[in-house]
Amino acid sequence: MSKVLVTGGAGYIGSHACKALRAAGFTPVTFDNLVTGWRDAVKFGPFEQGDLMDRARLDEVFAKHQPVAVMHFAALSQVGESMSEPGLYWRNNVGGSLNLIEAAVAAGCDQFVFSSTCATYGDQDNVVLDENSPQFPINAYGASKRAIEDILRDFEAAHGLKHVIFRYFNVAGADPDGEVGEYHQPETHLIPLMLDAIEGKRAALTVFGDDYDTPDGTCIRDYVHVCDLVDAHVLGLKWLEDGKGSRVFNLGTGSGFSVREVLDHSRAVTNRAVPHEIGARRPGDCTKLVSGSSRAVEELGWQPERSTLDQMIADAWQWHQTGHYDG
Ligand code: UDP
Repeated sequence: MSKVLVTGGAGYIGSHACKALRAAGFTPVTFDNLVTGWRDAVKFGPFEQGDLMDRARLDEVFAKHQPVAVMHFAALSQVGESMSEPGLYWRNNVGGSLNLIEAAVAAGCDQFVFSSTCATYGDQDNVVLDENSPQFPINAYGASKRAIEDILRDFEAAHGLKHVIFRYFNVAGADPDGEVGEYHQPETHLIPLMLDAIEGKRAALTVFGDDYDTPDGTCIRDYVHVCDLVDAHVLGLKWLEDGKGSRVFNLGTGSGFSVREVLDHSRAVTNRAVPHEIGARRPGDCTKLVSGSSRAVEELGWQPERSTLDQMIADAWQWHQTGHYDG
């Protein structure tokens, strides 16, 4: 079976990608430093512990496994933290990705699937964002991801590195089989925090601002199910294998939900009240991020199956009640 090197394969999205790759007939080789990932989440192929800042370790892993492609998920991904610690984001995300890209090219591995973000677009006056929208990130997280997109383009021009860039909107939900799920320590994302508040694991959810220029004053995001998201990655890999060349795809549903709407749906799905309070805006937050593109559907043949908000909350709720990792 062809091997795919999955950086961040012990993390939330990477572990779901490993499951999808395995189901599609690939062997996913997880490369992860376990700073935010979990050894227990590596269930579908070999594990190689290592850090993207360690070029020698990367070279060793490429030589050992000779992957046909790389799927690069490993990154720091918290908007708030990126505003207070930008150096971390530039060093780890950009420096680490550059090491990985150079190691791939040196090893002759010329297919690269990259997880980028809608945060590269920034705040664009309530417009719907498609792949041709200009990119003006307003936080260091988005800026670091945009820089990696630029590196990939330069490496294609110079070294023929074919790449698919996926710009994710807000990823949610969990594997309905309960094998893997979202488990961050500490947690910073909206839906798992809501579920924690419902269960009394934290006092109340703080809504980060209700004075935005949106119908109910809270930020609007486009949520996509992690299983649908990783299915798109497998299609992206096939796209590259078919020689279709480098391409950017948004991954979102085109439907935006405000924080208040997510609260309302969470209450309806779980049948439990969500304790919450209104707090200050979080630095770096965009008012509205909604994907306006059908490119992934039309060109990749992507068909999201679980990405209704209620299904995502239900799958996350199931995982929340039953799943966790010990290490
Ligand atoms: N959010 C919130 N309270 C929280 C966490 C998040 O109000 O404790 C809001 C956040 O301001 C944003 C949305 O929920 O509008 C999604 O945030 P998350 O951190 O889940 O993802 P991001 O959009 O930053 O990638």
